[in-house]
Parts: sequence; C-alpha cells; structure tokens
Amino acid sequence: MTPTIGDLAHWWQLAPSGLVVLDEQDRILQVNQTLNHWLGCSNSQLIHQPVSELFTAEAHLLYQGVLAFRLSAMGAIDEAHLNLRTQQGESFPVLCSARRLNAPDPPITLITMLPIARKDQLERELLEARQAAQSALEENQLVIAELETLRAKLESHNHELQRLTLQLRQEARSDPLTGLPNRRHFDLALEERLARASTNRHSDAFSVAILDIDHFKPINDTYGHEVGDQVLKQLALILSSQIRESDLAARIGGEEFALLIPETSLEEANSVLERLRLAIETHPWQPVPVTASVGVTGYLEGDTRESLITRADSALYRAKHLGRNHVAKG
Ligand code: GH3
Ligand code: MG
Ligand code: MG
Repeated sequence: MTPTIGDLAHWWQLAPSGLVVLDEQDRILQVNQTLNHWLGCSNSQLIHQPVSELFTAEAHLLYQGVLAFRLSAMGAIDEAHLNLRTQQGESFPVLCSARRLNAPDPPITLITMLPIARKDQLERELLEARQAAQSALEENQLVIAELETLRAKLESHNHELQRLTLQLRQEARSDPLTGLPNRRHFDLALEERLARASTNRHSDAFSVAILDIDHFKPINDTYGHEVGDQVLKQLALILSSQIRESDLAARIGGEEFALLIPETSLEEANSVLERLRLAIETHPWQPVPVTASVGVTGYLEGDTRESLITRADSALYRAKHLGRNHVAKG
C-alpha cells in the first residue's frame, strides 16, 4: 500500500525520535507527539515559543553560541549532544541533528532528536565497572606483592631452619672441645660398619682401637685444666693428621679416644697405631711430654659393638700394664 499524506503526518507524530520544525527566527512551528510526551507538555504550550524553551539553560547556551551559528553557516548540524528540559525541570539528554531547508520561503529548520539517556547510563555503568576493575587490579597487585614478601620471608626462615637443623645435627654428633665426632657418632658408625660386615662377607675386615692419654690427671693437677684442654685439642689434631680419610677418630670420654679403621686387618691396624703412638710421643709437647696407650682389636665374625669395645678396652688395660706408651692387641 502507498501511504497517504495523512498516514505520513500521523506517523511523523509517532516516530521514535523527537521532531521539531523551527521558523526563520528559531521559533517552534511544530513538534511531534513523541517530543511532547518526553517533555510532558502539550503542543499548544510550545508552538510559537523560542527554541530555547526546549532546552536546559546550558544546552540553550550551546545551541545559541555554537549550533545556531553553524546551522546558518553550513545549513546542518550532526549529532550534537544537548539536554532537553522537561516540564518537571528534569534534564533529558538527546542527540540532535538539524537541517536548514531554504526551499520553503521563508526557510525552516528541521531538527531530529534521539534519546540517549540509556546510552549515558550505560556509559556511566561502563566507567564505574572499569574503575572497579582497576581498583580490584590494584588491590590484587598489592596482595600479590604482600604474598611475595611473605614468601621471601618464609624462604629465608626455611633456610635458617635448615642451617640450624644441620648445625644441631652436627653438634649432636661432635665434641665441642676438639671438634672430633663424639661417642654417639662413633657408636652409630660402628653399628653401621657391623651391619655391613654381617651382610657382605668380603669386606668384613676392620679394626677398632681405644686410645687413652697416659697420666693425664697429673697434667691437669699440675698445670691446670686449661693446659689439659690444650693437650686434648693437640692430640685431636695429631689423630686427624695421622689417619686416612676413611678412618674415623672420635673423642668418647675425658681423655679417651676411639678409632674405627675400615678395610684393615688387626696386624695392619697395629702398625698404623704404632705410627700414631710414636707421633704422639715425639710431638714437641709443652710444658710436659705426653704419651698415650692404645688397645686395638680386629673384627671377628659374630662381634657386637660391646664385644669389640670390651676387647679393645682389655687390650688398652694391658698396654697400660706394659708400662704405658704402648699399643697392645686384643
Ligand atoms: P692413666 O695413665 O692410667 O690413664 O692415668 P690418667 O691420669 O690419665 O687417668 P685418670 O682416669 O686417673 O684421669 C683422667 C683425667 O682426665 C681425670 C680428669 O680430670 C681428666 N679429664 C677428663 N675430661 C677432661 C677434660 O675435658 N679436660 C681436662 N682438662 N681434663 C679432663
Ligand atoms: Mg682414662
Ligand atoms: Mg689416662
């Protein structure tokens, strides 16, 4: 069907945009129903009124100051953001486009207005969401930085803990005066060696010795405990320098030391210990010469830690009876 002029006039009223016709002096000649509806006023209230009646004060300034000038100069305005003023005094944002038509005489101006309240609202929401996301991001970054600090702290605490654990383990197994392994360490090493000897018959040769400083008490009594301590430390140095890396020398009591000599028969151990005894005897001790007696024994099948220590002790007892500064086998 072809719309009639009447149809078009009716549809003009109902178009989903506000439509205004102005005369040459920018007075309102016609507005459509849609615009009336937005503004909450009737046609009769607007007709013949200046266009400023439609806008808020600010929007009118913009219209007068910029848009009217452009309209008369260029004959067109496109997408100007203006605020209508409703009957209740509220602001109603619209996007205005206008055309000056010179064909009728006098000329008229056609203005179309698209409501953009929803668009403004969406833009505000978008801006708020963007700001919220930005502050959440900043908060996240703060939390991450805090977590990183905590992690670094934890790591350094862990390192310290590991260091202390190692130190404690070391201290639990060493003698504080000489720095040699202590009795506990020696006992564990001997147990371990015995366990290996019982499972591997080819590598079961090893020897155990106990060394005791001769007449140590009179050194303490005559020169003082400090000198006694120095003798103990020096003896530990001589022991460490005389033995192989695989051997173990420990301080197991006051002036008693024990040696675990792996892969070594009793006879071989005897000569090692004889060398050690001689090294002690010939060391340039101050303020008094020092000697030591040694009892040594070789591993026998079925031996336990106790049986080995008892035999080494008995041999030591014999070395003392031989006049001290001796190595005796047991
Ligand atoms: P023997 O030849 O029979 O072994 O005689 P000794 O005097 O060496 O033996 P005794 O068991 O009578 O004396 C050991 C001394 O060792 C007694 C004790 O005061 C001393 N002693 C034990 N531990 C330490 C220590 O850590 N430092 C010092 N300076 N002396 C110690
Ligand atoms: Mg002793
Ligand atoms: Mg002694």
